[in-house]
Amino acid sequence: MSAIVAEKGDGVTESIPATTERLYLTLDGNFIYRAQGRLIFIGGMEEGEGQEGREQKVDVVFDRSPFHPQGGGQPSDVGKVVCVGTGIELKVVKVSFSFETNVVTHHCEYGAGVTMSELAVGETWGLFVDEEKRNTFSKFHSAGHMVDRAMELCGYNMPATKGYHFLDSPYVEYKGKVEAPKREALIVQLNEKFKELIEEDIPTTICELTKEEAEEELNKVQANFFFSVFKDPTVRIVGICNFRCPCGGTHVRSSKDLEGFQVTGIKVKKGITRVKYDLAKE
Ligand SMILES: [Zn+2]
Repeated sequence: MSAIVAEKGDGVTESIPATTERLYLTLDGNFIYRAQGRLIFIGGMEEGEGQEGREQKVDVVFDRSPFHPQGGGQPSDVGKVVCVGTGIELKVVKVSFSFETNVVTHHCEYGAGVTMSELAVGETWGLFVDEEKRNTFSKFHSAGHMVDRAMELCGYNMPATKGYHFLDSPYVEYKGKVEAPKREALIVQLNEKFKELIEEDIPTTICELTKEEAEEELNKVQANFFFSVFKDPTVRIVGICNFRCPCGGTHVRSSKDLEGFQVTGIKVKKGITRVKYDLAKE
């Protein structure tokens, strides 16, 4: 599916690309919380329509979207989408992305009074991301990258194997061991680095590099990244606290926005070191 045909009225049709432009991919796009998009696909509907007291489900796809789908250890954005013409409003409860089809699917719920037959492909919708939640998710994700930079500054240049940036006990995992007697001291050191990095107010960078450029620039010190796994010819590279790595998530503007984060623990299991971090409770 590369394009869809939409009714323009009076029997006139037009063609719209059947993929989603992901607005959050650029640096400024990280701070776009609302946008307009054309509806290009409706699916996933359940039996019955908006009966009293029952939440109904529908999946909708637009030609562009500010919503960040779940992935890369970052939770899905939530929010709402509203049809400009009809005023129909759907609650966005989860968002997913398919690398196969290049579309962002908004998994929605709707209540009584909404009739799905009124939904028409080609119509313009307003897309609204829950800004507060997005900013929190961005902070938790960026703080995970700050752990990467702090580890490197402390002399632990280990390949990151997993990032979990959800709000319940986030962590970053690395291949390799930090010896037991060194762990407590490392936590203290990492937290000192956190303070310095936040103080330095280092701007976030986002760019697209070819796999060859990424290999050349990011694996200079140590071959910590495997660019051959990426399907696209270019890779999105995010720099947080001057630490650059491939990433598809949303982020803060500067390291100073990470005030309050701290490393809370280090665990080692089966040759994997897990560094836990969190936002200090006020
Ligand atoms: Zn990331």
